Parts: sequence; structure tokens; C-alpha cells
Amino acid sequence: MKYDVVVVGSNMMELTTDVDRMPQLGETVAAPSFHTAFGGKGANQAYAAAQLGSKVAMISVVGDDSFGRDYYEHFQQSGIDVSAVEVGHQANGVAPCFIQGNLNSIIVVQGANAELTPAMVDQHRDLLAKAKLIVLQQEISLATDYRVIEIANEFGVPALLNPAPANDEINYDYVRRVQFYAPNETELGRLTHLPVATLDEIKVAAHQLVADGVQNMIVTLGARGVLWVNATTELLIPAETVSAVDSIGAGDAFVGAFAHYYTAGSDIPTSLQQANHYAALTVTKPGSQTSYPRADEM
Ligand code: ATP
Repeated sequence: MKYDVVVVGSNMMELTTDVDRMPQLGETVAAPSFHTAFGGKGANQAYAAAQLGSKVAMISVVGDDSFGRDYYEHFQQSGIDVSAVEVGHQANGVAPCFIQGNLNSIIVVQGANAELTPAMVDQHRDLLAKAKLIVLQQEISLATDYRVIEIANEFGVPALLNPAPANDEINYDYVRRVQFYAPNETELGRLTHLPVATLDEIKVAAHQLVADGVQNMIVTLGARGVLWVNATTELLIPAETVSAVDSIGAGDAFVGAFAHYYTAGSDIPTSLQQANHYAALTVTKPGSQTSYPRADEM
């Protein structure tokens, strides 16, 4: 059995509280509302690809708690293969988020995601061999990402690395070994230590990484769209004009949608164009996964 997309990465339960004001240390305040939502970069990307109809498997660790059980069930209900989703020994990863007006404060607790080790990846190498594309982010340890890239190379499976959140420790020997490297503009600036305020500066930074051996740079630019650069191509696809509600999880929607269209047989420019359209739709609704439409809802 083949998979279109195998995502190796995190899952997080988002715990969102709307506050009138943040409490001081030692203080208790009442807040008007609270809700939970399924998030985490790896899971978001897997969910987007699955919503579009890809055959998706996830390699991830859920917590040994009610959030973990809920997340496991959510993967199943979303049509994501859970044969490589393990139950860890600690609490599920969580992201408590406090929203006050248009500002937010977020805490990320990695929890059971820390148990997604290179050794666990080795146990699921057969699954990785069956992927058309392997998708990675950096909410798990870099050592685990590196092991996945080694296995991907061994089996000749292309990989996409979304370097979010940015990590200055990244080893470029591994970055050169993935087919697609997909930071957003802020991450690109941090990775290259170059200015990225203007489009021209962003192009210079992306070309520098290509000159340094990166195969394909896909730089998401928020409301400016997406830039693709490789040794022979530079293509800017402008964002679609939409009435934006919030862009939370737009980058993950973009990556998941790109993985879907690319593994469904579209070429790179067409896949980028379609992912750009999908991501634009998601900014018209609040939240991350809650804003990702199915193919028939687009
Ligand atoms: P996040 O971390 O919230 O997931 P990101 O910073 O990684 O987001 P962005 O670069 O903000 O990702 O956005 C990803 C893609 O979503 C863009 O390349 C674009 O296709 C689409 N997008 C984002 N914001 C807008 C917008 N305001 N209008 C139209 N499309 C948008």
C-alpha cells in the first residue's frame, strides 16, 4: 500500500482563553470564554492534505491523557492513517493561548512530542518508504528530522522541510538533502541573517541558500503570496485577494495543500498556485484546522 503523504511531526491541543486582561503572577482573574482546538504544525499539515483527499499517514506521539485520546480519535475521523501514531508516557503537547483584543500570548509545551525520537522513526521506516512525499517541520527534535531525511534519501523518497519554528542549530548538510525547503519570510531572515523586509531582499536571501546547495526554496510571504527559487527558476505567485479574518495556520495549510497537489501529479508551479489558493481560503475563517476546507467545500 502506497501513501501520498507521510507527515512526521507534532500534534498539539490548542487551549485558547479570551481574556479581558492577563493576570499578574500570583493573581487570579475571571475570563469570558475558553475553547480547545486540534493544532500542532505536523498535524495541521497532515490534516490539510487529508482534507483535500490525499492518502495520509502520520508519524507522531499523542499523550497518555484525555487530550491524547481525543487527538488519536481526531486523526482517525480525519482519515489519517494512525498505524504509526504512538501513545507516549507523558501528557499530550499543548499550546495554552491567551487572547486580549488583537494581541495574543502563547505557551508551547512539547509534552509527548518529545518522545518522537530517531529510534521511533527507525521502527516506522517501512512506512516512510511507501510515501510519495515526506513532510517535516521543527516542532520535534532536529535529530529526529535528520534521521527521517537519511531514511528518505535511502529510499529515494522526496522530502519537504518546513523549518518552523526556526532553529539556528539546523545543519545545512541535511537541508541540502531535502527536495523542498519551505520557510516563511521571517524564518528565511533568521536562517540567512540577511534583511528580508522587501521582496528584492527576500529574493537575494532565497538565492543565497540555493547557491549554497538548497534544491528548491519555497518562501511563503503571507499576504504577498509565495516565492519559488531554484538553480534555474524564480517564480513569484501573488496572494489572492480575500477578506482576511486570521492567518493562524495558513502556512501549515499551504504546506499540506502543496504536498497534496504535488503528489497528485501536478508540477511544482501548478502545485504552488493551488496551495496559494487553498491557503487564501483558510485565512477567511478563524483558527487553524477549523479553517481548512475539504476539496468539495472549496
Ligand atoms: P502560520 O505560522 O500562521 O501558519 P506562516 O507565516 O507560516 O503562517 P504565511 O506566509 O503567513 O505563513 O502564509 C502562508 C500562505 O498563506 C501564503 O503564502 C499565502 O498563500 C496565504 N496567505 C497568508 N495570508 C494571506 C492573506 N492575507 N491573503 C491571502 N493569502 C494569504
